Amino acid sequence: MTSTEPVSRATIPVHIRIGTERIAIGGGGVHDRVCPITGKVDGSIPLAGPHDIDRACMVAQEAFLQWRRTPPTERRRLLLRLADLFDENDDELSRLATLDVGAPYVPRKGHPSIAANYIRYYAGWADKYTSDVVAGYLPNGEFGYTLAQPYGVVGVIVTWNGPVGSIAMKVPAALAAGNTVVVKPSELTPYGPEFVADLVEEAGFPPGVFNVLPGSGAAGDALVQHPLVKKVSFTGGPGTAASIMRACSDSVKPAVFELGGKSASVIFDDADIDAACAHGAMLSVGFLAGQGCSFPTRVLAQESVYAGVVQRMSKVAESYVVGDPFDTATITGPVINQAAADRILGIIDRAPSEGARLVTGGNRVHLGGELAGGYYVEPTVFADVDPYSELGQSEVFGPVLAITSFRDESDAIAKANATPYGLGGYIRTNDLGRALRVAEQLEAGDVHINGAGNLMVNRPFGGWGLSGHGKEGGRQGLEEFMRIKGVGIAFGESPLISFGS
Ligand code: NDP
Repeated sequence: MTSTEPVSRATIPVHIRIGTERIAIGGGGVHDRVCPITGKVDGSIPLAGPHDIDRACMVAQEAFLQWRRTPPTERRRLLLRLADLFDENDDELSRLATLDVGAPYVPRKGHPSIAANYIRYYAGWADKYTSDVVAGYLPNGEFGYTLAQPYGVVGVIVTWNGPVGSIAMKVPAALAAGNTVVVKPSELTPYGPEFVADLVEEAGFPPGVFNVLPGSGAAGDALVQHPLVKKVSFTGGPGTAASIMRACSDSVKPAVFELGGKSASVIFDDADIDAACAHGAMLSVGFLAGQGCSFPTRVLAQESVYAGVVQRMSKVAESYVVGDPFDTATITGPVINQAAADRILGIIDRAPSEGARLVTGGNRVHLGGELAGGYYVEPTVFADVDPYSELGQSEVFGPVLAITSFRDESDAIAKANATPYGLGGYIRTNDLGRALRVAEQLEAGDVHINGAGNLMVNRPFGGWGLSGHGKEGGRQGLEEFMRIKGVGIAFGESPLISFGS
């Protein structure tokens, strides 16, 4: 261990949280939670059944009737208090993220987390969103305005790779707009969401405004279909999104979908190659073991610098320590479970048959001691990847990078846009005009030029195509949770029927 003090690996008891209730046994049975770091069961997680979901929706609806009338300044105050509590409890939130997902344990030492940033940002919006005044055309005059109103109960479903971050990207915006929420995290990662429920309670939110029910896909389905749920906000895979869309179709229920990606990093020959490779390797085979939706898991490098990029990327990847995410020397922690490790290694095994050249990695890492059962995969780099092969097209969601060469700008754009996904796009060049041209032409909802950060709260994030639709972050992230009503007021007698002007 290079860290000075050992960090506790104790888990916390998980409950179904409805209003003020903490329920230890749910109607959906129990999940024996397996820790990705050790491969051992570390908790018994109650799973919500349809009856629990039904009750949570009713409690949330009851709370909504008050919360929608709560002055926006009070909603702001509570959200700001919650953000402060996130800061005060940052070490514990980081610790639980490491236990949940195997994310590197990085206490931020006073720097607010991404989650705290989102909460604070939407606290600010709570009392600042203004309506539009619209001109009237009736002969006697007419005045019109818009009202932005909450939906009611929002069903929030998040996946396992960053449950607290995902909750923070959705829930504060929903609450700021006057909705209440029923959250279903994945049973694979229950600890962070449980702790968030504690912090919400401590912040003083009225009971029922925020409810958390760990559960399986069946619980998610019950939540989506519940008649009191007026909008769904989902983060997960495209297959699940498609079934949620089908479930929503009968009642024409709206939903936001934040889905997967196969984002390309386009490296032109005038770029700072070392910076591009350091950043590209970290966000594909390092941090979170590649399990990030918007990571640049494809690199497209211009022919003249291609060999150098392949060599540099693999060198950086080889330098990464694979191991215990509580160890501060570790860069690449475990993947989430055995099924994920098997799936990732399957894609690695098949890639050479489609022409990809394995440059480094490619194997399961077997560590000793208490990590012996953990799910570790070597940072893996493939070169000469056919953009239309399985590796070039499908989201691996593990520490595997695919590198392909391109000729010129138009070839780069064509290859970057050659998947059904459209989440992130990354551009590296010192030619500003080229950067802006390429940014405009990428089929992606979120473009980063020369290392611009991910998940900046004031910039809307969200994908196109198979990566979903709808936004989180920015004003647009708030508007996802508002319904706009137009109100017209006629002055004096108006004509019996009036259309437009
Ligand atoms: P899934 O789509 O399998 O699961 C996501 C959530 O949906 C889980 O809570 C899951 O519960 C639940 N669920 C499963 N079936 C249903 C159903 N029929 N109705 C309602 N809810 C259901 O997620 P993955 O494991 O595939 O997650 C990884 C994916 O998430 C990747 O594609 C990744 O890119 C994407 N992602 C996107 C992000 C973004 O913001 N764009 C951010 C993070 C990840 P359970 O776990 O119990 O099955």
